Amino acid sequence: MSKFWSPFVKDLVPYVPGEQPKLSKLVKLNTNENPYGPSPKAIAAMQAEVNDDLRLYPDPNGDRLKQAVADYYGVSTAQVFVGNGSDEVLAHAFHGLFQHQAPLLFPDISYSFYPVYCGLYGIDYQQVPLDEQFQIRVEDYARPNGGIIFPNPNAPTGCLLPLEAVERLLQGSPDSVVLVDEAYIDFGGQSAIALVDKYPNLLVTQTLSKSRSLAGLRVGIAVGHPDLIEALERIKNSFNSYPLDRMAIAGAAAAFEDREYFEQTCRQVIASRERVVAGLQGLGFEVLPSAANFVFARHPSKDAATLAAGLREQGVIVRHFKQPRIAQFLRITIGTPEQNQALLDALQSL
Ligand code: PMP
Repeated sequence: MSKFWSPFVKDLVPYVPGEQPKLSKLVKLNTNENPYGPSPKAIAAMQAEVNDDLRLYPDPNGDRLKQAVADYYGVSTAQVFVGNGSDEVLAHAFHGLFQHQAPLLFPDISYSFYPVYCGLYGIDYQQVPLDEQFQIRVEDYARPNGGIIFPNPNAPTGCLLPLEAVERLLQGSPDSVVLVDEAYIDFGGQSAIALVDKYPNLLVTQTLSKSRSLAGLRVGIAVGHPDLIEALERIKNSFNSYPLDRMAIAGAAAAFEDREYFEQTCRQVIASRERVVAGLQGLGFEVLPSAANFVFARHPSKDAATLAAGLREQGVIVRHFKQPRIAQFLRITIGTPEQNQALLDALQSL
């Protein structure tokens, strides 16, 4: 801590990202990236942008990408926001849509970035406990609030809240913004974007880091009523009007346009997930029902931290958490069939 820090910075508790190891030989199953590469069409579109036009600023609105998202979901471009990773989109939403008198509500076990944003933007919050099965209980959110946010499927549990339950939650809170963070929705869920025309207080965010294999490009989107999108645009334009560069706009748009590749790789990840679940259960693990590209599993008699350390010694890295209720779980990203086998083989030896 330096004497030059403001009191505000002294009190900030920043997010600690999952490890990005420098060793390439590791079986990296710790940060929920896609084991398959991006669409070849997305790569070609990015390469086509590497030319003299890079001397020019990009389109400040990212219209090509907004159009691709609008076409994909059957909404208008006025209902679409694009940003530098869904983390940035979420930051703008916290900043622009959640600063109210009543506390923001989110599950006690959910994306650990949410409390960090609350600290950053001075937002009061309450964490709502998940039920005994680690599920979101919709009724618990039907009370005065300054907004609601939850990942769906939830992270790090992987559990999905069905669309009809999302709708019930929306009906219980018509006067504040409900943000559904759909980072993992494409691995088995139904997007709440289907509800945005019906609920003007619904904002849905998604990322291209998972199902579209572009974590390295940093692109996220939000879809909702044009008034909510305008709030995000105002914040974005108050920082920097160019969140996305030329390569990102072109690559992300092409990734949305290439449905076939997207659907095929999602199917492969889902099929692998079912095999990993069966393999883990065969080794005695309890696995929560997952609709994501990761699973959350615990062993009745083996300590998670010890297992994670043992896996690491064998070159496999997974994630585990310190929060008491989930401290005995491992969060394991679904990898290629070879990586998944390496994980199961290593676990068998521990
Ligand atoms: N939301 C959730 C629930 C996540 O797990 C992640 C990935 N860590 C994000 C948002 C952010 O994704 P990105 O910034 O890569 O778009």
